[in-house]
Amino acid sequence: MQQPEDILHAGNSATPRKLWSIPEFRRLLRTREVSAVETVTALLDDMRAKRELNIFITETHDKALNQARDADKRLAAGVPRALDGIPIAVKDNFCTKGIKTTAGSKMLAVSRKSEDGFVPTYESSVTQRLLDAGAVILGKTNMDEFAMGSSTETSYFGPTINPVGVRLGFDNLVPGGSSGGSAAAIAADLAVGAIGTDTGGSIRQPASFCGVVGMKPSYGVCSRWGIIAYASSLDQAGAFGKSVRDVAAILDVIGGEDQKDATSVSSLSLRYEAALAQPQKKLRIGFPREIMRLKATADVESVWTAGQKIAQQLGAEVVDVSIPSLGYALPAYYIIALSEASSNLSRYDGIRYGYRANAPKDIIDLYERTRAEGFGEEVKRRIILGTYSLSAGYYDAYYLRALKVRRILADEFSAVFQKVDAMFMPATPTGAFEIGAHEGDPVQMYLEDVFTVPVNLAGLPAISVPVSRDCRGMPLGLQVIGPQLGDEKVVQVAAAVEAMTAH
Ligand code: GLN
Repeated sequence: MQQPEDILHAGNSATPRKLWSIPEFRRLLRTREVSAVETVTALLDDMRAKRELNIFITETHDKALNQARDADKRLAAGVPRALDGIPIAVKDNFCTKGIKTTAGSKMLAVSRKSEDGFVPTYESSVTQRLLDAGAVILGKTNMDEFAMGSSTETSYFGPTINPVGVRLGFDNLVPGGSSGGSAAAIAADLAVGAIGTDTGGSIRQPASFCGVVGMKPSYGVCSRWGIIAYASSLDQAGAFGKSVRDVAAILDVIGGEDQKDATSVSSLSLRYEAALAQPQKKLRIGFPREIMRLKATADVESVWTAGQKIAQQLGAEVVDVSIPSLGYALPAYYIIALSEASSNLSRYDGIRYGYRANAPKDIIDLYERTRAEGFGEEVKRRIILGTYSLSAGYYDAYYLRALKVRRILADEFSAVFQKVDAMFMPATPTGAFEIGAHEGDPVQMYLEDVFTVPVNLAGLPAISVPVSRDCRGMPLGLQVIGPQLGDEKVVQVAAAVEAMTAH
């Protein structure tokens, strides 16, 4: 067997440690050239060494080693499971049985019952599927509070530092958000795969900022059961990895119908990894002409140009398409998401979960101070805005109108997908920004999501693949978007894009 310190090196030891791809890792584990326990031990050491990046809220060393031991036994017995021994990081808004789960909030991090905060008594369906497939869960990653943000700065545990920035000499760049810790775990080579959630871009945007691949499947592919709710009609779990193939391998495990989530799509058998082996016919790629009008930064232009070049190299037909309502997606999203959040977050009342204010004088004082002290500023702002747009007298003007925009937008996307196989769009307006860049200006932060939220409103599958760099050398992602439940096509096209950029 190889020594643990060699285990994480692939090729040139002068380069930062690199982990293997999932197919390669599977092969090495199955031929017993490496063991899960050795690899996980080495990774846990690395996690300790890189704590200043603030990637994990909770590291689950003992549990991870036990899971690795079990995986090794099955591997040695020749009965491996799909992800046996593969180390995965999990965003801290998936309920994990017996493991503290905070959603990046003081509301759940600090519990009146125990020092440990909120410790779920049940496992989310997605993480249960990972465990059933033999994956090793290394820990729970940092995130914006209740997944509300685009930078991981609103976390009660402080911001995560972008590891790619550190490598380039900048130690003050955000990893994106809200799944910033999960994206950073991949970029810092602390996990082979990671799980996140994407309500309005929280997988694709951090994937773009950290130079990794991140996919949000179609709404309904992954069960939301046991995921701490932000905006239920938009929330969707997904995966991060170094490559499209790795992401596909994880999605094969975490996707699928679940009796516990009525919005999970029934009798659907998407096979992400197998789709990558299928031959492809000539592609038609749509480029929505509204993009440049929405936000014409140098970085957007660079991704746009890279996308067109890649499409041509692939021999695809480049189609000029139009989504006329694209510009209305951002305001519609921020009305719908915040309205749903105001309802979802009403459960944090100091009675049932987590934090409770000290020595309340009556029940009203208990509610008020619990919520005032337990929620951060951004979460409170959103609860207030969401409550406002749902209130009598404003409901029609805001919430209902936003729902109409959502319908129109979904119809416009459907019409375009009659003509093209996939659409290309930038994932982000710029590369990773500095910590504090949008402090005191929430609207600037919301504008970061201009290219990602339309996809969530329409329930579409989309993936971010790194294709370019900004003037500092920070990565920029291209979004490949497909029609509803066209997830297999999305990974096929994304893999072709990836192959071209490697080229
Ligand atoms: N940045 C967006 C928001 O704050 C998206 C967050 C997410 O996808 N969870 O709502």
